[in-house]
Amino acid sequence: MTAQIIDGSLVANQIRAEVAQAVAKRVAAGKTIPGLATVLVGENPASQSYVKSKHKACQEAGIRSFGYTLPETAGQQEVEDVVKKLNDDPEVHGILVQLPLPAGLDEEAVLRQVSIEKDVDGFHPVNIGRLAQKGRDPLFIPCTPAGVMALLERFAPRLEGLNAVVLGRSNIVGMPVALLLVRANATVTICHSRTRDLPEVVRQADVLIAAVGKANMVKASWVKPGAVVIDVGINRVEDASRPRGYRLVGDVDFDEVKEVAGAITPVPGGVGPMTIAVLLQSTLRAAELS
Ligand code: NDP
Repeated sequence: MTAQIIDGSLVANQIRAEVAQAVAKRVAAGKTIPGLATVLVGENPASQSYVKSKHKACQEAGIRSFGYTLPETAGQQEVEDVVKKLNDDPEVHGILVQLPLPAGLDEEAVLRQVSIEKDVDGFHPVNIGRLAQKGRDPLFIPCTPAGVMALLERFAPRLEGLNAVVLGRSNIVGMPVALLLVRANATVTICHSRTRDLPEVVRQADVLIAAVGKANMVKASWVKPGAVVIDVGINRVEDASRPRGYRLVGDVDFDEVKEVAGAITPVPGGVGPMTIAVLLQSTLRAAELS
């Protein structure tokens, strides 16, 4: 059996086109242009590149973007003051603090300063807390986990009662994905570095979400035939044949697992493009809520 390949780029482009259309309609109706502000502290090249792509995506969707860059040496108060200023700026509807922040800064204290109405990344403790509670709804959901769910909606629409296994329990991906799957009435197992007999646990999964950060870790023998596999991992592996000297692979051994799974996301071209598409959606929503 060869799995259906879940084309995240295609779905993300559809979402981005829908957002662009809705923004154009909103602006034609005389309403404010949605605006996203990014706060980047330090010079982490991956973070710089993510922020750059977010600005480019905003531009393509007709969303205004405002970039705030602070030096690696910026103090806690300085970073929080930028966030507070953005909270009061009527042209800014969404605020994204690019994580991770440099060591020494209190990440949670910074995220707590973001107004929950502008928390398009969904990392404010109140939004995350509401996600974890029955009967409460966060205003925004973290973008990568929301992107995972948007793919599942299309490729595994009936999650109720299914066994879902989440590999990884980070605040950014694993834990919010697990909370969203519980909300979708799946039976959820969360695995991490202390999980015993990982392959055996993973084999129970009807739906598997891998967010570990270990290249090609999940093998075909770990996967239940027909399972839906969503690979969030983005890992660099050396590849002398590529101009950059490396290529990107996921946490799942794609070539092996595609022969067993029912559907699978590739890396790149799976979850990655969904993250930015959801960010644009959330920025538009923030503008609509304002
Ligand atoms: P973290 O490093 O924060 O978390 C990794 C998780 O995996 C931890 O919970 C850790 O367990 C667990 N883990 C590590 N090693 C093992 C192991 N051998 N067996 C089982 N569990 C293990 O990573 P993130 O959640 O931030 O990111 C995960 C991956 O997703 C990365 O490759 C990252 O690049 C990618 N990513 C992709 C995004 C996208 O847009 N597509 C966005 C964000 C991330 P423990 O808690 O016990 O330490």
